[in-house]
Amino acid sequence: MRLDGRRTSDNVDDRRGKGRGKATLGIGGTIIAGLIIWLMGGNPLSFFTQQAVEGMTSTNTEYKPTAEEEAMALFSKRVFAGTEDVWTAIFQQNGMKYKAPQLVLFTSATTSGCGSASSSTGPFYCPADQSVYIDLSFFNQMKDQLDAGGDFAYAYVIAHEVGHHVQYLLGTLDKVHQQQQRMSQKESNQLNVRLELQADFYAGIWAYYDNKNYNSIEEGDIDEGLNAASQIGDDRLQMKSQGYTVPDAFNHGTSAQRSRWLKKGLQTGKISDGDTFSVPYSQL
Ligand SMILES: [Zn+2]
Repeated sequence: MRLDGRRTSDNVDDRRGKGRGKATLGIGGTIIAGLIIWLMGGNPLSFFTQQAVEGMTSTNTEYKPTAEEEAMALFSKRVFAGTEDVWTAIFQQNGMKYKAPQLVLFTSATTSGCGSASSSTGPFYCPADQSVYIDLSFFNQMKDQLDAGGDFAYAYVIAHEVGHHVQYLLGTLDKVHQQQQRMSQKESNQLNVRLELQADFYAGIWAYYDNKNYNSIEEGDIDEGLNAASQIGDDRLQMKSQGYTVPDAFNHGTSAQRSRWLKKGLQTGKISDGDTFSVPYSQL
């Protein structure tokens, strides 16, 4: 992706290094941990001293991101600004006003309006505080563990979460959550798949217009995005983790579905093509 010289978003809450880190065990936690050690025959005193030292060093040590982390943070803030430009224009064309979400960058753990979040949660959108939460280490996981690396692939993830914010603003998110309360688990999962595929489609819409605005898409980018969409399909992930697939438990869409809807948005740039709710489930 070409992002050089692009503006960064103003709607960023950079909490990196401010998370609930290792040293926040607290006095109670330290005492209990010390007690357990003591019961097992260890020397609690040495544990206490060690804890105290660790606590002091990590609260006094400033978080120093690596150059690579800084580059990823800058990248994310630029991509996020691009989503603001695209969605502001689209909402305006349709006589509406786009209220941009917030991007929260964190390391290891943080609290959100939807409960506590950790790196293992993965990127998510919280409607309660209209924020997209990302621990940038997820992008390394995509590259190293999911075989889904590449700048455009990371941008797709950000744009997908922003897609959920668009669904929030349009009332889709609320409607789906209400319907899900009166459904079986299977039906609820299917509705979730529709929601997720639409967020993929919206990510495609973002890419279409971002490229129009800034000529940002480079050779190979689209393949990176489609590859990522397919690597994080339910079928692929289930196969990887358990060796078989349970289609009724799919809640994000298969590899084929996810790449298809992302591609559709990318190709047409037309919002009206993204109604994933009226297509029969078997034809998604
Ligand atoms: Zn999603």
